[in-house]
Amino acid sequence: MTAAFETHEVLNQSPPFEEVDLFALDRPLQDALAANGAGSAAAALSAFGQRYGSAEMLEEARRANENPPRLASFDRKGFRRDTVEFHPAYHRFMGESIAAGVHASPWRADGGRAAAPAEVLRAARFYMANQVEAGHCCPITMTRASVAALAAQPSLRDRFIGKILSRSYDPSFRPAAEKAGITIGMGMTEKQGGTDVRANTTRAEPAGEGYLITGHKWFLSAPMCDAFLVLAQAPGGLTCFLLPRFRPDGSVNALRLQRLKDKLGNRSNASAEVEFAQAFAWRVGEEGRGVRTIIEMVQFTRLDCALGSAGLMRMALAQALHHARHRSVFQRRLADQPMMRSVLADLALEMEGAVALVMRLARAFDHPEDPAEAARARLLTPAVKYWVCKTAPAFIYEAMECLGGNGYVEEAPLARLYREAPVNAIWEGSGNVMCLDVLRALAREGEAGRDLIETLARATAGLPGAAQAATFIAKAFSARETEQHARRVVEQLALLAAAAALAESAPAVGEIFARLRVSEPRGATYGTAALEATDVTMLLERVLPG
Ligand SMILES: Cc1cc2nc3c(=O)[nH]c(=O)nc-3n(C[C@H](O)[C@H](O)[C@H](O)COP(=O)(O)OP(=O)(O)OC[C@H]3O[C@@H](n4cnc5c(N)ncnc54)[C@H](O)[C@@H]3O)c2cc1C
Repeated sequence: MTAAFETHEVLNQSPPFEEVDLFALDRPLQDALAANGAGSAAAALSAFGQRYGSAEMLEEARRANENPPRLASFDRKGFRRDTVEFHPAYHRFMGESIAAGVHASPWRADGGRAAAPAEVLRAARFYMANQVEAGHCCPITMTRASVAALAAQPSLRDRFIGKILSRSYDPSFRPAAEKAGITIGMGMTEKQGGTDVRANTTRAEPAGEGYLITGHKWFLSAPMCDAFLVLAQAPGGLTCFLLPRFRPDGSVNALRLQRLKDKLGNRSNASAEVEFAQAFAWRVGEEGRGVRTIIEMVQFTRLDCALGSAGLMRMALAQALHHARHRSVFQRRLADQPMMRSVLADLALEMEGAVALVMRLARAFDHPEDPAEAARARLLTPAVKYWVCKTAPAFIYEAMECLGGNGYVEEAPLARLYREAPVNAIWEGSGNVMCLDVLRALAREGEAGRDLIETLARATAGLPGAAQAATFIAKAFSARETEQHARRVVEQLALLAAAAALAESAPAVGEIFARLRVSEPRGATYGTAALEATDVTMLLERVLPG
């Protein structure tokens, strides 16, 4: 206990939001899991929620971000090192998330897909981990997704899968064969373009059992991963490779880390600029099929972008509501002031839509054998990534304002959450690119697209504005809607899908969501939705029991 101030008493400050169970306090999450086949895992998820919601882990998250990674280009004798040093708190999160299988649990030991609801369960953990420390989730998501790309080269997959799926985090800088577990990153983006990867200039020449890669990558996150899936121009065209940090003979591979990006957020995690100076790599898939191969991985990382953003939103909202319940202004708690309640409930409604939508999408990933679910995953992933990731920054900003000045300073996690928020929309396909992907996917798979829209229309039958939205979307797609209007259509698609997901997981909320998000556009700021007082109470109690 610290000594009291001589000049004043500290009054009316909210207690820290810590020692909480991130699962047990989150009714929208629990309902979404129950609706998507994972209702029986409450005890395990609650244990995870308590661990990540502990004061200790929240403090570790602060440390990991206030002590960003450092590039160690050379050793003290001038030899190249090309390594990055992370704070122990970052390693702590890597260790915990890997031990919990967040990087691996939806894969079987042979690289096949684990039985449902493996995806939904893992999605819940990833969502909770992001609430506490988002930076380490970058290598966690890339490692999880890498198995999908490696499927194109079974011999390589079989060689590394045991280490990838290992529940032991091993940060040592040694060849993969000597390590208890490995992590995998990816490098596609070059200086001249990230969206248009076909313009990659990095070259690959066949050499012995692999290729020699020469060129650069402009963003290579988590550069201490043990290997990277990279794209390079081989004689047969753009090709995917697995580029390890150590060559097969055990020598250090020729990755030259040039510098680390000075990023807006995502501070605990490093993103490097890198040169490859005839670096050794194995081919993954056929020459010329690089985009096809790596896209298998990208679908999973896009799901994670949406899950990650939903997690950031959730923590911001929980902090805001918790604060409002403890802070009084004019002798009345903020959480009892009618206008503050409107703001918080409007945020809660958005949160309900986001969490129901991402968990329903995770269920689609759980059923690749079902054509309708597989089509849903293909067609909706870019739309969900677009809407959820784009929603997060403005949402978190509004939550921050609920804490007043306390929200703006670095000690509260709101500033960190806010700085983190835009990255999920930018990487793995920025907003416009996601909308183009939806258009392309629907043009390619017209029938599956029509079926999906009909399914969403059936799921939302009778909900305000849903039939009109479904007709609008169907018409836009059948008229081969131009790119010019793509954002409008894709947003409507995501909102309709969110209403459909809520109709299954929390029907009373689905009705409100349809009325205030699908039937009419959301106001430019939160707190403008015409919510009934009883709905406000219900939404706030669901999102964080008072
Ligand atoms: C923190 C962070 C970490 C990253 N880590 C990695 C990593 O590990 N590996 C990796 O490979 N990359 C990584 N990236 C890079 C990221 O994936 C790219 O920045 C992203 O794909 C966009 O590419 P670009 O920056 O070249 O933008 P551009 O491709 O130049 O696009 C710029 C803008 O134009 C829009 N646009 C593009 N095409 C069209 C079109 N036809 N019509 C309308 N608008 C269009 C895009 O939506 C975007 O908003 C990371 C980025 C960040 C910020």
